[in-house]
Amino acid sequence: MPFEPVDPKVSFPHVEERILAFWKDADVFHRSLAARDGAPRWIFYEGPPTANAQPGIHHVEPRTFKDVFPRFKTMTGHYVERKGGWDCHGLPVEIEVEKEIGTTGKKDIEAFGVAEFNRRCRESVQRYVDAFEGLTERIGFWIDTDQAYWTMHTPYIESVWWSLKQLHLRGLLVQDHKVTAYCPRCGTALSDAEVAQGYETVADPSIFVRFPIVEAGDPSLVGSSLLVWTTTPWTLPANEGAAVDASASYLVVERDGERLVVGAPLREAVLGETGVIVRTLAGADLVGVRYEPPYANVDDAHVVVAGTFVSMEEGTGIVHMAPAFGPEDLAVGRAQGWPVFKPVGDDGRFTDLGPAFVRGVFVKDADPLIVEDLRARDVLFAAGTLEHAYPFCWRCHTPLLYYARTGWYVRTTQVKDRLLDVNDSVRWYPSHIQHGRYGNWLENNVDWALSRERYWGTPLPIWRCERLHDRAVGSLTELSELAGRDLTGLDPHKPGIDEVTFDCPECGGRAERVPEVIDTWYDSGAMPFAQWGYHPELGRGIEQFERNFPADFISEAIDQTRGWFYTLMAEGVLHFDALTYRNVVCLGLILDAEGRKMSKSLGNSIDPFEVLDRYGADTLRWFLLTNGSPWADRRVSFEAFDEIVRQFLLTLWNVYSFFVTYANANGFDPASSDAPPLERRAVMDRWVLSQLTDTVHEARERLDAYDATGAGRRIQSFASDLSNWYVRRSRRRFWNPGDVASADAQAATQTLHHCLVTVATLLAPFVPFLADELWRNLAAGRGALPDSVHLADYPNVDETAADHALDRSMALARAVVELGRRIRVETKTKTRQPLHEAVVHVPGRDAELDGLLDVIADELNVKAIRFADTESFGAWRGKPNYRLLGPALGARVQGVAAALARDDGSLAGRLAAGETVELTLDDGLPVTLEPDQVELAQAVMSGWGVASESGVTVALELEISAELRRVEASGSVADALEAHREEIAAETLAIELVLGAIEGAIIREVTEIDEETLTIGLRKA
Ligand SMILES: [Zn+2]
Ligand SMILES: [Zn+2]
Repeated sequence: MPFEPVDPKVSFPHVEERILAFWKDADVFHRSLAARDGAPRWIFYEGPPTANAQPGIHHVEPRTFKDVFPRFKTMTGHYVERKGGWDCHGLPVEIEVEKEIGTTGKKDIEAFGVAEFNRRCRESVQRYVDAFEGLTERIGFWIDTDQAYWTMHTPYIESVWWSLKQLHLRGLLVQDHKVTAYCPRCGTALSDAEVAQGYETVADPSIFVRFPIVEAGDPSLVGSSLLVWTTTPWTLPANEGAAVDASASYLVVERDGERLVVGAPLREAVLGETGVIVRTLAGADLVGVRYEPPYANVDDAHVVVAGTFVSMEEGTGIVHMAPAFGPEDLAVGRAQGWPVFKPVGDDGRFTDLGPAFVRGVFVKDADPLIVEDLRARDVLFAAGTLEHAYPFCWRCHTPLLYYARTGWYVRTTQVKDRLLDVNDSVRWYPSHIQHGRYGNWLENNVDWALSRERYWGTPLPIWRCERLHDRAVGSLTELSELAGRDLTGLDPHKPGIDEVTFDCPECGGRAERVPEVIDTWYDSGAMPFAQWGYHPELGRGIEQFERNFPADFISEAIDQTRGWFYTLMAEGVLHFDALTYRNVVCLGLILDAEGRKMSKSLGNSIDPFEVLDRYGADTLRWFLLTNGSPWADRRVSFEAFDEIVRQFLLTLWNVYSFFVTYANANGFDPASSDAPPLERRAVMDRWVLSQLTDTVHEARERLDAYDATGAGRRIQSFASDLSNWYVRRSRRRFWNPGDVASADAQAATQTLHHCLVTVATLLAPFVPFLADELWRNLAAGRGALPDSVHLADYPNVDETAADHALDRSMALARAVVELGRRIRVETKTKTRQPLHEAVVHVPGRDAELDGLLDVIADELNVKAIRFADTESFGAWRGKPNYRLLGPALGARVQGVAAALARDDGSLAGRLAAGETVELTLDDGLPVTLEPDQVELAQAVMSGWGVASESGVTVALELEISAELRRVEASGSVADALEAHREEIAAETLAIELVLGAIEGAIIREVTEIDEETLTIGLRKA
């Protein structure tokens, strides 16, 4: 059975379309699963993308890594179920819809109507899911989107409700009044994980203000002013106290007729050299002192307290306290019995409780107005700006404010130790994340701010009566029982769910749902159980969950360390006291060619569909898998894609095309080939098969260790050797016009066929389209082989083909050839100019090269090769490498230079041979020299060129005798063609070379040589 002819001018996107159609028609994905039915499970979790916009190139990155390992595991005999998923709720979706309908906040949404708003959110999710599905299919990411979980579907929500009910029953889901990060535009509190996503460096005001003391146990303090520092002037109208470090030392400094109190270690930073110290006192002496606040607000406050959080590293050592806006402030205020004074509304603007001149103004915009007011009233001592990291809303980019608010919290701090334990048994790639970026953050765990005062999310399933009895409801079935009517078909979203009320089981009063929805990150963290609709009370999804927990593998971008990686782990510990994933691969960010983050506003985004149309999915996948470390940030450019096509895909394609052309011409059939056994094949065959064994071994080992990059690079280097060494050196063996069935032609063809089929199989998880294209032509349907490479087993290591001695000697031969080429380049001697002799020195390894002398001579285009000691090339000379030796020896380096200048060649010769030498300098002291500390050069015999590296030295005799020169002298291209008639025929695997008119050519190319235009054609024999 001949192979399908191969088009040397391939279009990879076209190949991919054909393969996609084949996969669909032949149902290859589902068959690849069915083929492993009953095999050991290898469990993968899909981190659900949020379908809130068109997918970008950064979505292709994790989707490629989430494809390569499941494919590899399937090919190595595992059953890898791949259930898709979509994250449907939350601010990302709401803000997209807000843009569509032109609202700018919650008031607008409520005026628009929550029912219609949520209907549009659902519709928006559906629309973008369609776009994601298109991308998923096109890039060859095999995942079951038909069976995908959607976090907005009722069984998913009920599963989440079940889990929240358990937390509530265990006292781990509670309402609390805390200071929390709050987005004034979105009108909701955010979790610590969300805050961590949005830090930016900004310039904020940095001001020092006076708090004049009005009452003190020690009357001499009255009239002095406490100096207080803040970067949030807008919180000063809410000031209720000042905190000092009781055990620290404070100074009263007199300056320009006033007395200022400041922490002793901070005096110089705040006041410089000015003023005179009139008194030193302990922080404890200031506790209880009363002062006049910058703005009047509440009674019975404005007193100095002791605080353990007071820093003596920055500020003044006296901390301004506004209980409404800081967690420590709130704790102190509660302990002191201060009422919470909050002059700012949910929209981030001052209310009527604020000073008249800022009412209605957004707090950050009020900062300069407040500074001016303080200046006018002489309360301001100094004002400047400070650059620091400040959190912004990860969705709408509004500066976050810290507010005392009532909200619902999950008490993750109660399971923190268990989280740390579980984290110890996870394997992180890269490993430093485990106890670095992730572990550090876990150490500082705070309770999870779960509730959101928003609309499109999983409703918090807590109903509360007038007498504050709370009831967590775990399902619509349970809700139906409580309400006394069938609600199992109800859409559990707002606003419908809010209309359901029931009689409180404890007191009979009317119970209504609390208004909040939950953090969408909780939804995605619940996927291990909620994707199956897991619900013990309803007897649903139990078996599926247990069979698929925990995951063997997850992978997402590195920003998920504080997102999904955390919520998955936290929920696994909270609900099942268990590890949720065993291996996690964290991927770096995708940047543009200049190293900038891609964004719509910069206009530097690369549309993934454009890349797919121009280069194909395999190119993009290969880039993502092998170009740079997967966990480092990576730059994407069209140039990088061009290079992959040229250097890798086309190299492989050309070998494939070459093979098919000659295999068909030889009538080769792998099934009935008479190729001789391995030990009787040519050295090039044995070498390439040994290299193939090494490649299979390394690819398997690295993929097992989640190193797709290392595995891919090894396969690429094999493909390059196959093309640039094996095929190039073996070309002539494929075409033996006299005897196409010669044993050697059969051996070469069989060897190359085996290499190509194995490479296609090795590459199947990486570049699934090209791999299947090769497989379908070279292997499918031959013997019992399946119709797709994705139904095949991953190649096994064939130890019988390994020949380490041959690997070493071929590497040496190639090093010799490389040095010979270098001499020809440096001396401008063309490779096609034959030379008489090459002299080679390889320390103690001459015998290894014996079987490869023909290869070396041919590559170097020399008539003879001789082995020799280095000495015969001429004496070595050395001079110090000043860059290395200078810093180590200082002035003594001149002594080394003098010693090397006197050297007769023996010292330099030993260094050239790789020895460390010791010598005594003119100062009478010894010095040890390493070979790399000395620059070595060899005095070259006249008429020879020499090159040396890693102990291997090659010399070429450059003298060109009349006999060698015969071709060069003749001049014209026609003469040269005539002179090389036989070589050209052999190189092109043609029976004969004919000069003249071309008739009946199957391939025709036009080219230019020495400014003459040549038309070259090939005609079938
Ligand atoms: Zn926001
Ligand atoms: Zn009640």
